[in-house]
Amino acid sequence: MKIIKCRDLGFKCNFMAAGNELKEVESVILDHIEKQHEKELKDMSEDDILHLKHRISTLLGRSCGCGAL
Ligand SMILES: [Zn+2]
Repeated sequence: MKIIKCRDLGFKCNFMAAGNELKEVESVILDHIEKQHEKELKDMSEDDILHLKHRISTLLGRSCGCGAL
């Protein structure tokens, strides 16, 4: 089971995405961010967004220890 907290990504939010597949959790959290944090996303540069996505992968990868993106 993989869990990612929106708060860990720097948003003031209590949302958590959980699932068994990295890809699944990743798409849930990205979908949530796109819908609930639209304003924050608009203020972010492309680099910031890439960094955010990388952070999601890192946070999710850490729990299985494989570290692959
Ligand atoms: Zn959130």
